[in-house]
Amino acid sequence: MDGSALPVDPNKAPNNLDSFWMPFTWNRQFKKDPLLLASAKDMHYTTVNGQKILDGTAGLWCCNAGHARERITKAVQQTVEHLDFAPTFQLGHPLVFELAQRLTAMVPGNYDHAFFCNSGSEAVDSALKIALAYHRVRGDAARTRLIGRERGYHGVGFGGISVGGIVKNRMFWGPLINGVDHLPHTHDLSRNAHTRGIPEHGAEYADELERICALHDPSTIAAVIVEPVAGSTGVLIPPKGYLKRLREICDKHGILLIFDEVITGFGRLGTGFATEYFGVQPDMITCAKGLTNGVIPMGAVICREGIYDAFTDWADDTGSTIELFHGYTYSGHPVAAAAALATLETYQQDGLFERGAALSGYWEDAIHSLGDARHVIDIRNLGLIAGIELAPREGAPTVRAYEAFKRCFDAGLLVRVTGDIIALSPPLIISKEQIDEIVHILRKVLSELD
Ligand code: PLP
Repeated sequence: MDGSALPVDPNKAPNNLDSFWMPFTWNRQFKKDPLLLASAKDMHYTTVNGQKILDGTAGLWCCNAGHARERITKAVQQTVEHLDFAPTFQLGHPLVFELAQRLTAMVPGNYDHAFFCNSGSEAVDSALKIALAYHRVRGDAARTRLIGRERGYHGVGFGGISVGGIVKNRMFWGPLINGVDHLPHTHDLSRNAHTRGIPEHGAEYADELERICALHDPSTIAAVIVEPVAGSTGVLIPPKGYLKRLREICDKHGILLIFDEVITGFGRLGTGFATEYFGVQPDMITCAKGLTNGVIPMGAVICREGIYDAFTDWADDTGSTIELFHGYTYSGHPVAAAAALATLETYQQDGLFERGAALSGYWEDAIHSLGDARHVIDIRNLGLIAGIELAPREGAPTVRAYEAFKRCFDAGLLVRVTGDIIALSPPLIISKEQIDEIVHILRKVLSELD
């Protein structure tokens, strides 16, 4: 390690794994049999034991351009030496303004402002707070209810778990925030199993929003938040016409619609954002992950025209100096902003969204070829996303998928599992041969599993 600024060797397993309380992890199990990643390049990780692992999940749905892309790492290195930190409360720096302009311009439609934070969770909590305050500054302060969806994942902040709908993520934390209701999820195996792309059945699940409006009175509802494609709950593709219907009901009742695009943003569906893919425009878009290619934490809320103006108009009218009483020390951190600018440039220069779109047909065929593999009860896909649902093992739900994850890793493939579902979301630089490799390993692993 001569000449390195690091006090430890990142390629060597530490002697003691005890002190790190790992997030969303079976800690006791992991520490008996740890999986440690030492380095990453393009489509692969390398473990501390020197094994190469094909990245089937873009890290955690974030390294869409592949790993250690030179433009991004250089931008980070240069910026950290040039401007290591700058506050954005009553001060600014050039990079973040440029980024806001480029990010909002990426989304088709009338989006004109971006608020920055450090994660998807913070983006969601920021969007929910902006929604509540937006109605209030416009004199519509009775709109305080927030509507999420069963099985939704919106990160781990109190706002996000309140509108989220994954039971284990909610049940330990008491009553959460007040005035939240949930739409039903759209997963309908009986009608849509093994659908290629967008499922035919289920647009009527959106009509449940009318029932919720009737129950609470729509004038009390501030916002509806959904993932356009639900990821963390195990890849649920919205039924045909579903998102459009949600938009129509929100419009009818003056309710803001938020798309949580933390995983669908930045090319996952072959377009910049899912809003473009589905042709449905929300009032706010939350994003993170692929914004910086996962290199530096950063999240954002992209707002349609009129939202920011409502706050500045209110401030003018009331004489308030600050318009939005919300922000993070690291909102628009210069190194994160540099990483994001270089990432957007990489997506564009390398045509990665178009590449993802062009590969999605091959991906669909390849993934659905596993339809007859052992234990598989459903396969779902869109863009470069796939979910493979396994029959739960009797008396031990989720264990089969967890074993699949471990065996895939041993065989040199990183997949993600959630419940009994294997989720895949590779970097957009994946080749057809690597897609074949994913399918080959999965088929073998599934055939060997009890
Ligand atoms: N929203 C969605 C849709 C996500 O998928 C995630 C993370 O997977 C989040 C929010 C939370 O993001 P983070 O883990 O960066 O807080």
